[in-house]
Amino acid sequence: MARFAYVNGRYRPMAQAAVHIEDRGFQFADGVYEVCEVRGGRLVDEPAHLARLTRSLARLSIAPPIAMHSLRVVIRQVMIQNGIEDGLIYIQVTRGSAPRSHAFPQKPTRPSLVVTARGADRGARSKNALGIAVVTVPETRWLRVDIKTISLLPNVLAKQTAFEAGAQEAWFVGQDDLINEGASSNAWIVNGDGVLVTPPKTAQILEGVTRAAVLKLSRSQGIDIEERRFSVEEALAAREAFVTSATALVTPVIRLDGAAIGDGGCGPVAADLRLALLDNPNLAPRLAQFVA
Ligand code: PMP
Repeated sequence: MARFAYVNGRYRPMAQAAVHIEDRGFQFADGVYEVCEVRGGRLVDEPAHLARLTRSLARLSIAPPIAMHSLRVVIRQVMIQNGIEDGLIYIQVTRGSAPRSHAFPQKPTRPSLVVTARGADRGARSKNALGIAVVTVPETRWLRVDIKTISLLPNVLAKQTAFEAGAQEAWFVGQDDLINEGASSNAWIVNGDGVLVTPPKTAQILEGVTRAAVLKLSRSQGIDIEERRFSVEEALAAREAFVTSATALVTPVIRLDGAAIGDGGCGPVAADLRLALLDNPNLAPRLAQFVA
């Protein structure tokens, strides 16, 4: 099926969709983004993703390109035009285009908005659901990774390191030997006492929408939770480990730096949480319901 993108007010076939070469996203990675899962033709956790987009924009002093209710319509149009029932929607906003100069343009620019969609990669998803391998890499990112910026070079390099090692994700380890998060996911372990451990909400991690959903589910199931960072040694000695993201949902980590975690398979806590997340989706209305 032909793919369509929304770019600054127009729906275009992918091959003709383009932004200006002086767009500050292209020049400086001066922008933010969101990735939201589409399940059964409906967005998962839409309000939380749009709230995070609003926060990311505000932290970089980028004005919202259009009103949030208009963005919700655009997202749905892109889903429909691409025939997406199950997949992902990408929203990217940059400060707009202006002659190249590092500081914000003196004349206010119109922020650029791009919305694209793609169908779920069912093969990769079911393979990963059985468990992925993770490698650790030194933390090389800036100190504000709580902002979901398109400036992702360290994440790109970390993911490439993982792929070259035959793994699917990389965990960033700080100078204090504690893990922050993955290149595109949040990190979790279940320790020897059955306690669920995940790093707290600080500027060192992205506040994952899936992380929040999993914390809520775990609390409602009475699981003990500690929001703190953990070491590589602790992760290697854990009963289970997993990652969360809108793309990965809850995905078990079965190897870390080449060593098996737990019994080397998907553990019960990760399996239960993945099912619970699939059973309790926070689904947003479809276009017809949204505009009715
Ligand atoms: N951390 C990073 C660095 C990410 O890129 C992502 C994926 N957006 C996450 C965590 C998980 O966030 P979410 O659950 O909102 O997808």
